[in-house]
Amino acid sequence: MSVLFQNYARRPIELVEGKGTIAYDQNGKKYLDFSSGIAVTSLGHANEELVQVVCEQSKKVWHTSNLFQNSKQEEVATKLIEGTHFGQALFCNSGAEANEAAIKLARKHTGKFKIITFQQSFHGRTLGTMAATGQDKVKEGFGPMLETFDIIPYNDEAALERAMGDDVAAIMLEVVQGEGGVEPITETFAEKINEMSKQYGALIIVDEVQTGIGRTGTKYAFQQTVLQPDIMSLAKGLGGGFPIGAMIATKELADTFGPGTHGTTFGGNYLATAVASKVCDIIFDETFLQQVQEKGAYLKEAVEKELPSLETKGQGLLFGIRQEGWDVASVLAKAEEAGLLTVAAGNNVLRLLPPLTVSKEEIDEAVHILKQIL
Ligand SMILES: *Cc1c(COP(=O)(O)O)cnc(C)c1O
Repeated sequence: MSVLFQNYARRPIELVEGKGTIAYDQNGKKYLDFSSGIAVTSLGHANEELVQVVCEQSKKVWHTSNLFQNSKQEEVATKLIEGTHFGQALFCNSGAEANEAAIKLARKHTGKFKIITFQQSFHGRTLGTMAATGQDKVKEGFGPMLETFDIIPYNDEAALERAMGDDVAAIMLEVVQGEGGVEPITETFAEKINEMSKQYGALIIVDEVQTGIGRTGTKYAFQQTVLQPDIMSLAKGLGGGFPIGAMIATKELADTFGPGTHGTTFGGNYLATAVASKVCDIIFDETFLQQVQEKGAYLKEAVEKELPSLETKGQGLLFGIRQEGWDVASVLAKAEEAGLLTVAAGNNVLRLLPPLTVSKEEIDEAVHILKQIL
């Protein structure tokens, strides 16, 4: 019997080594890793440049706490906000923590506590972010929930209009719902969110924990929409596999978090920010992002050509496929057996999350495997 809590339905394999898109399990079996540790290892396994950064930083300091200046945090924050309307960042250790910071900032800044979130959303597993999440299965047995959140249908303008009022502190959303089934926001809904936010003085929080840092083919996914967020949360891809999260906000919100208002011991430590800095350098390059878009389009085209009966959805390399009536768990298991690692999402969607460095040959190979098993 395992000495671990059985809170994860773990696959019966252990990945012990890898390089780029390729990973090997404990028996030496080779896989194409289109799971990337759930959109985390965006530069693949054992990326040379990241390995070097970790080694070099580890010989200097690892952690000094937020009692002291930290130029690495300044460096990463500068890269994150560059080319956007945002003004400053706060570092933490995970997506849920970044969202907690966002929720606290929105409450304190507006003096209100009602936050609108959406059905099928996923924002994390802490008491606050669990309550924000629009999926009942995440909440079972953990009640009562924090009352802050009003959870309404996604991409439903009329429902949003009905839910709005002067008591709304913020509207919090994923630009593409990841865990909920790879569901992108519609343009009209994005417009409606902007409009409602202005009309009622409510902030817009985009949870880009999964969509951010190049995953959808732009630095952040909201940049492909008209959305004008006040706050953004990041994590997953930011550290290339090293745990780090960040909350980003506009200058107008800077003064709301003064000394002593919020914090975390580990947040933005040197190992994490050293890696994140290099991740930003690589991914925020225009050519690199262009290639992510091309590879996303290539993957979509290949799936639609080889497997025309499948429904495809998503953006960039956050890609979902679905077929009426299939059992996604068994599809996932079959793919794994055939050497392709994927992730399930929402209502029977299979999510393909290759590293952003994936090659077209690897995409061909993955589609070939899918065709065989389906
Ligand atoms: C994964 C995820 C989270 C939670 O991140 P953790 O690091 O697991 O806390 C929050 N929001 C979104 C959109 C996510 O995909």
